[in-house]
Amino acid sequence: MKKQTKAIRTQTKKSQYREHSTPLFLTSSFTFESAEQGKALFDESEEGNIYSRFSNPSVQEFVDKVCVLEDCEDGVATATGMAAVFASIAGLLKTGDHLIASRSLFGSAHQIITQIVSKWGITHTYLDADASEEAWEAAVQPNTRMIYLETPSNPGLDLVDLEMIGRICKKHNLIFNVDNCFASPALQNPSDFGADLIVHSATKWMDGQGRVLGGVVVGKKQYIKELRFFCRQTGPSMSPFNAWVLSKSLETLNLRMEKHVSNALKLAAALDQHPDVKQVKYPFLESHPQYELAKKQMSGGGAIVTIELEGGFERVSGFMSALKIASLSSNLGDTRTIVTNPNTTTHAKLKPEEKQLLGITEGLIRISVGLEDVDDLIEDFTQAVEVSVKSDILE
Ligand SMILES: *Cc1c(COP(=O)(O)O)cnc(C)c1O
Repeated sequence: MKKQTKAIRTQTKKSQYREHSTPLFLTSSFTFESAEQGKALFDESEEGNIYSRFSNPSVQEFVDKVCVLEDCEDGVATATGMAAVFASIAGLLKTGDHLIASRSLFGSAHQIITQIVSKWGITHTYLDADASEEAWEAAVQPNTRMIYLETPSNPGLDLVDLEMIGRICKKHNLIFNVDNCFASPALQNPSDFGADLIVHSATKWMDGQGRVLGGVVVGKKQYIKELRFFCRQTGPSMSPFNAWVLSKSLETLNLRMEKHVSNALKLAAALDQHPDVKQVKYPFLESHPQYELAKKQMSGGGAIVTIELEGGFERVSGFMSALKIASLSSNLGDTRTIVTNPNTTTHAKLKPEEKQLLGITEGLIRISVGLEDVDDLIEDFTQAVEVSVKSDILE
């Protein structure tokens, strides 16, 4: 069976009511039929649910589906994407370990690496997403244990060559950890390139409808086993309700991504032609500096487009207030198109030199392209660009 079929048909075992849609196991705990069973569940001679911080059928169904879609053996779900990122690093590394990471990362991932795990003596080296194989290899130290990266990155849409990193990790026996949130499993499967762990913010395309927060780490059994222990003890567990919502959402992921991607490409191409837009970045536009790599490792360009407007925050503000359809929000991955200015929101906490290295300029606008009719979107963005040029000139 194809992945899509398997994911859609993955479901918690039917109850005596023969329900078709999967029930929601909104329960904090599970009962023991006897003292002996309680003992057996705790000493792991019997497998089963005990308490929803450890496991829950609704959560397990969601994890099982992500494992199918990402071709992975096992996984753990977490309350948010950041809990997944944190668990995937803190659950596996220890004092004295070294981490190599791509510089192009989500803002909070930077904070985890530079401000949190660093307190426990886990050191790191950052590399540019497009650094050469020699540069990545030169960063490997005797105590390096993991390479962590995001491709495409938020918000810069920088790509990292997954095949190359897979090769380096294999050669030096490093844990290969990828945040695959922006592509979603519908467009890119890092396990094809040897990734050991794949992290997602399920809040984004997996939910795809802006309703719930969630995160998941899937990957090789040996690592997930350690992460399961870490999560069971420290408690970043996903709520069964959110898991139930997310599990249903995964059944339409491929279908939604097809439309998101086609809308994004059309909007990016239209804005690319506009004389008042300084720059448009989208992995499947030929003008993207890593277009060839995008075509190699992704089956679609994703649904995030960035544009750059000249004129600083005034211009950005004029543009954003002129939009009639797109929402202003720091989230992404919704049916509704969302626009944000990373410099003043999601990435505001980065130092000026870090922003510069990541290409987070004052005029950068991140667009999460939704499922509205694309002609309406093109019209909305075009008129807002034009209004913002006029207001900028008047000022
Ligand atoms: C949003 C996001 C996260 C964090 O996810 P939350 O669910 O908000 O905690 C991590 N990585 C990427 C690439 C993201 O876009």
